[in-house]
Amino acid sequence: MRIFLQGASGRMGQAVKVAAAKEGYEILDSTIPDTIGKADVVIDFSSHEVTAPLVATAAEHGKPVVIGTTGHNEAEREAILSYTSRIPIVWAGNFSLGVNLLFYLAEKVAATLPLSYHPEIVEMHHRHKKDAPSGTAENLVEAVLRGRQWSADKVKHGRSGITGERPDEEIGVHALRGGEVVGEHSLIFAGPGERLQLQHQATDRRIFAEGSLVAARWIIAKQPGLYNMQDVLELK
Ligand code: NAD
Repeated sequence: MRIFLQGASGRMGQAVKVAAAKEGYEILDSTIPDTIGKADVVIDFSSHEVTAPLVATAAEHGKPVVIGTTGHNEAEREAILSYTSRIPIVWAGNFSLGVNLLFYLAEKVAATLPLSYHPEIVEMHHRHKKDAPSGTAENLVEAVLRGRQWSADKVKHGRSGITGERPDEEIGVHALRGGEVVGEHSLIFAGPGERLQLQHQATDRRIFAEGSLVAARWIIAKQPGLYNMQDVLELK
């Protein structure tokens, strides 16, 4: 497999290079124009503002794209989604098996527990991370919203001041930053007399890198459309 990798010099880019070398995959030099035409697949671990231009170039060449970058704004999201009619795209805020199982469980738990069990999400990442909350925390929020059949107005980012009593229909989301933490996510359902807590800790970036390669292998044979890691891992 020949991979055009955007963000090759970054923390994730380096991890993808190591994982690709283990599998015998070739990483093409992304600084040479038109290299993308020689790739089987494009992988993006860079910065939110450069994902859509990359996807546009991939679409011109008919290449499938795996997007790992997070922190896109609404306009960038729409621009990226507009290409899903032309090329297959796997877009995932987190490529780890454990986290994708967590999304699956989050929806089931949210659908099963009564409203008196209050969902709160806490995430922690290294000090260099540029967006908050993490893409994974956003995906967890979406899973809980689906499970509870709530709309996005139930989300409460952080709390400060005289906040009043917590309503049943709310999801609190809290982002911690510091040190070298690779990525930790907790989903807490605090109920009357008990608390259920689902927690994931990433200890090595290689889980994301290897997951992105699984997605890359999977998407090469797919029809144009938008896919996530739950599709790739058949967790639905
Ligand atoms: P990083 O800062 O270490 O690396 C970013 C890379 O993008 C660098 O190579 C940099 O040169 C490149 N880049 C930045 N701006 C650019 C621009 N304007 N044009 C071209 N290249 C540009 O960051 P990182 O820790 O490797 O994370 C990269 C992205 O991947 C972030 O959005 C992060 O949240 C995300 N991420 C996703 C997952 C996942 O599983 N989906 C896991 C970890 C990180």
